[in-house]
Order: sequence, then structure tokens, then C-alpha cells
Amino acid sequence: MTEQQRAGASGDVSLAGLSKHYGDFTAVRPMDLTIPAGSFFALLGASGCGKTTTLRMIAGLEQPSTGTVHIGDRDVTALPPYKRPVNTVFQNYALFPHLSVADNVGFGLRRRGVKDTAGQVKDMLDLVELGHLAKRKPTRLSGGQQQRVAVARALINTPQVLLLDEPLGALDLKLRRQMQLELKRIQTDVGITFVHVTHDQEEAMTMADTIAVMNGGRIEQLGSPVELYESPRTTFVANFLGQSNLVEARVTGRADGDLLLDAQGNRLVLPAARSAADGERLVMGIRPEKITIVHTSDAKVADGRNRLDGGVIVDAAFIGVSTQYVVRMPWGQEFTVFEQNMERDRRLVPGAGVLLHWNPEHGFGLESGDLTA
Ligand code: ATP
Repeated sequence: MTEQQRAGASGDVSLAGLSKHYGDFTAVRPMDLTIPAGSFFALLGASGCGKTTTLRMIAGLEQPSTGTVHIGDRDVTALPPYKRPVNTVFQNYALFPHLSVADNVGFGLRRRGVKDTAGQVKDMLDLVELGHLAKRKPTRLSGGQQQRVAVARALINTPQVLLLDEPLGALDLKLRRQMQLELKRIQTDVGITFVHVTHDQEEAMTMADTIAVMNGGRIEQLGSPVELYESPRTTFVANFLGQSNLVEARVTGRADGDLLLDAQGNRLVLPAARSAADGERLVMGIRPEKITIVHTSDAKVADGRNRLDGGVIVDAAFIGVSTQYVVRMPWGQEFTVFEQNMERDRRLVPGAGVLLHWNPEHGFGLESGDLTA
């Protein structure tokens, strides 16, 4: 274990009843959250949901209205930013243009009175793979390279927690994808806690061990990327991470631990993640890539449960890895279906009559029953 990993072992971030009001407006509702030491954690949500304010309260750049921030065992709520064992990387890297890459990285150490910074600066530049550019000025670096200098500069003071506020927001898509993997590698190498703010669901899913999906100043759901994708609990999460088809249904019974549902006269099966009474209305979801689409004339699909009949294709778009269909059901609702590997002569065309079916284990039930949420 390196020195930094040992420091990281005490880098749990715990928020208790943490909130922020601006006058009458509540930007962050009282929040309880523990971010485990050494994890890559993402605060994910649309613009204005309160994720930056939460991060700034951890950094000490914003004073909370209520609640506390602990890092390890230490209550840091009243401490100014520079006394907290954290450092922040912002979207605009704020590098010193007149200093070389190496001098930018060593700046924090020199300010603390460290005389011989060369060894540590070299280690940091090696970590972010910029050793060969140590003497360059930041203005002669690409955006991704500048961001790596900013990360090295923030890590050289061995913080227990690194806070990243949309650090890749200024980069183009290709570079952003490269940097996502790069930051993930750096986090694994140094082993400290990273808390990353982003509005980009793909970015959060690529990088984070755990994601907190925020909506309206509160955490709507917390979980690993796989948990959030496979078992979203609300319509907001089901639609914010990837795409979902949502169906209103009524509980008609139970069989082998599953719920039996009726949706517009179709009999569906859903794994029973929670108890539900007969007659109760709920919304179930199914991802577009989990649905199989079959021409009505295809006799191979068995009759019975877990299929929706009477669909008509209204749009079919070949997008390389898959074909994306939009299917209108008899009650007017449209479903999106991604079909992979369909042979060319079997691809379906607009106007074709189809039925949709899926393995019951891929469906998920939602707690909030509002299709429009
Ligand atoms: P973005 O991705 O756009 O930065 P965000 O999710 O990070 O959004 P915050 O910056 O945390 O959102 O802001 C949350 C809410 O608090 C927003 O509605 C914002 O307008 C409001 N807000 C933030 N700072 C202030 C302030 N200093 N005074 C008043 N309202 C503020």
C-alpha cells in the first residue's frame, strides 16, 4: 500500500442532514450520505439539481444551511477549504500560463515551503503520463493534457479526497471518452476517494463504482451503475440512465414469486421486487434492447404471457450495431426496441405488424407510478 492509499483508508466522506438554502430556495434538501474511502463516486443529475452545491459544501467553498460534513472521523464542517484534506479540480483548469507544466504541478508544494519538489513532481507527471512535457507551457498543451496537469497539481498535496466538478465538460467527445478511462486509471493507482460531478450518464457509468442520481435537490437513487440500470426505482432514474419503455399495468395475481399483470389486456409477468396487492396499479419498465420484436406471422413465439400483441412499426432506423424500431401499440403508446444481429432479409419495415416479448426477469417495477415523471 502506498502512502496515499494509507491516507485514503481514512477518506470516508459522510454527510449528515446536509442542506443548502438560498433565501427561500432549497438547492439541496437534507441529505445523509456516506461515500466509502477509496471509491470513485459520481453525483449525477441534470443542470440545477444541486450536485455542484453538494460538492462545494464538501470542499468548504459553500457553507451548509444545516448538517455536517465528516472526512474520516473528523468533522470538517467549520473548516475553510485549505484546512480540509480535499482538493478540487474544476472544468476550467486554471493553470498558471507563465509557469511550465512541472512548475504548475509543484506549485502547491512550494507554497507549503517544500524545498526539493523535483522527485514528487516527477512521480505525479509519470502518474498522469506527462513526464515528457514537463518543460512546456500549458498554452501549448491540448485540453486533455491541461486537464491531466490540473489533476496532477491537485493530487501532489496527497489529499484524502479529490473533488472533480465537471472536469471533462470543456473537452470534445472523443477526448472526453479517453479522459474518462484515464481518470479511472489514475484513481485506481492512487487509491483515494474521488467524488465526480457530471450531468453525463454515460460518463458516470463508465467511471464510477457508485452513482448518486440527484433530482430536485435530493438523491433519487444510489447504487452501482449495473444496479441503477437494471433496477431503477423511479421513472426519473429509468429515463435518466439510458432509455426505458414504461407500461401502466394492474396486478392480477402471483406465481412463483412473480407478479402477474394486466396491461391493456396483455398478460405480463414481473419479478416481485416488492409486495403489491391484487388490483393495484403500477408502472413497469423494460429496456429497448431487452425486447424481442417478431413479425406477427412468425409462428414460433408461444401464445400466452409476457407479450404485447398488435404493434405496428412506425419507424425503423439501421444504426450499425443495431436496428432501432419505434412500434405503435393499439392503445397509442409507442415502444422503442433495439434489435441486434437481425439478418438483412429479416429486418422489418414500417407498416409491418409485430408483437413484442421479453424474458420476465428483465422487467422492473417502479415505485413512482407516474408515466410522465
Ligand atoms: P449545473 O450542472 O448547471 O451546475 P447543478 O446540479 O450543479 O447544476 P447547482 O449549481 O448545485 O446545480 O445549483 C442548484 C440550484 O441552486 C440551482 O437552481 C441554482 O440556480 C441554485 N443556486 C446555486 N448557487 C446559488 C446562489 N449562490 N444563489 C442562489 N441560487 C443558487
